[in-house]
Amino acid sequence: MSTDQTHDPALRSWVPTANLRGADFPIQNLPFGVFRRAGTREAPRVGVAIGTAILDVAACLAAGLFVDDDAARDAASACAAPTLNGLMARGADARRALRAAVSALLAEDVPVHRRQIAEHALVLQAEAELFLPAQIGDYTDFYASVHHATNVGSMFRPDQPLLPNYKWVPIGYHGRASSIVVSGTPVRRPSGQRKGPADDTPTVGPSRSLDYELELGAFVGTGNALGEPVPMAEAEAHLFGLCLLNDWSARDLQAWEYQPLGPFLAKNFASTISPWVVTLEALAPFRAPLAERAEGDPAPLPYLSHADDRAHGGFAVTVETWLSTARMRAAGEPAVRITRAQATDLYWSMAQMLVHHTSSGCNLRPGDLLGSGTISGPAKDSRGCLLELTWRGAEPLTLPNGETRAFLEDGDEVQLTAFAERDGAVRIGFGRCTGVIVAA
Ligand code: MN
Repeated sequence: MSTDQTHDPALRSWVPTANLRGADFPIQNLPFGVFRRAGTREAPRVGVAIGTAILDVAACLAAGLFVDDDAARDAASACAAPTLNGLMARGADARRALRAAVSALLAEDVPVHRRQIAEHALVLQAEAELFLPAQIGDYTDFYASVHHATNVGSMFRPDQPLLPNYKWVPIGYHGRASSIVVSGTPVRRPSGQRKGPADDTPTVGPSRSLDYELELGAFVGTGNALGEPVPMAEAEAHLFGLCLLNDWSARDLQAWEYQPLGPFLAKNFASTISPWVVTLEALAPFRAPLAERAEGDPAPLPYLSHADDRAHGGFAVTVETWLSTARMRAAGEPAVRITRAQATDLYWSMAQMLVHHTSSGCNLRPGDLLGSGTISGPAKDSRGCLLELTWRGAEPLTLPNGETRAFLEDGDEVQLTAFAERDGAVRIGFGRCTGVIVAA
């Protein structure tokens, strides 16, 4: 949680685009991803984003860098792999050692011979193909925004928006890992059963109320053994970092199928994540208390309660949704922001979600993905999905060109972004998490 020389706001990189104001990937960020040069048959491998480039960590190691520090060398040796799982499994100390070594290598004051080696290990992001950062064995999506849960609940149960368990249990469901795709992958409109209130029987066909969900994903670093719950004091040692997550949702399929066992086909056709994983170390300057629980809310049960979590279990990350329609793009018009929300408004911390997940004895493994659930705030423009923004389609959005949207139409592109900034620290970003809807 503490900051070190890698967070120094005065630190600058010899990669010029890393020093541009507002850059997502300054030298203080250094997120991990998996890439290869586009148009080649190269093996995908782990890279670190810096400015508009990617540092090929394994190439640096092969060229003789990172050998002064055993921990950094061992962590770098995991970066020749086509996924981050090996680095994730090595834990926080290895990740920190590699971060420190990469930071020193990319800093302006690096000795010239090292810089020359690193220059040869840089690939422009525009010339790279990016992959899912990890082999995701299991994916669990939570429901941690009380504003989202209250909004959605009040549409379906006006007299009891929040179910009695909400403020006691971090609610989640086991999602589908096989259909998680990396940003940029087109999303085919799902077909399925849907039955409107006026219909006598369900029909099968393309979803008529396709939606996105603005979420943060948390990657598990080191796992826990089956039968051995993770206590709150150790929870963050099991987290690797955060990414953007779009939990695409077919609301008509969901409304018909969700009782009594929860989401199923309405959410298993695609979930999109950003290619870059922002580490807990990069986020250290942006930790924050979670939102205060309302007067009269129960305190978390002891196994979900820890003073450090109360003090800085939150992430002061601003998350946004941007929408562009096919007509807007054809006319050269920019995407329009339709949501801005704060991750500090979540009711449950990532640590609480991880601890609750393992409290039964369930084992998490390196590369498992935990979703925050749709991040909504109290204000109307901080609602994290169209279901809430348009109140089930009753109040469609009007876009700058006059088009309206109750739910997503074919050709729509949804882009999620996120950033963290505060005085005394350099702003960091998450890159983009995008997907275009294609016809069923
Ligand atoms: Mn979700």
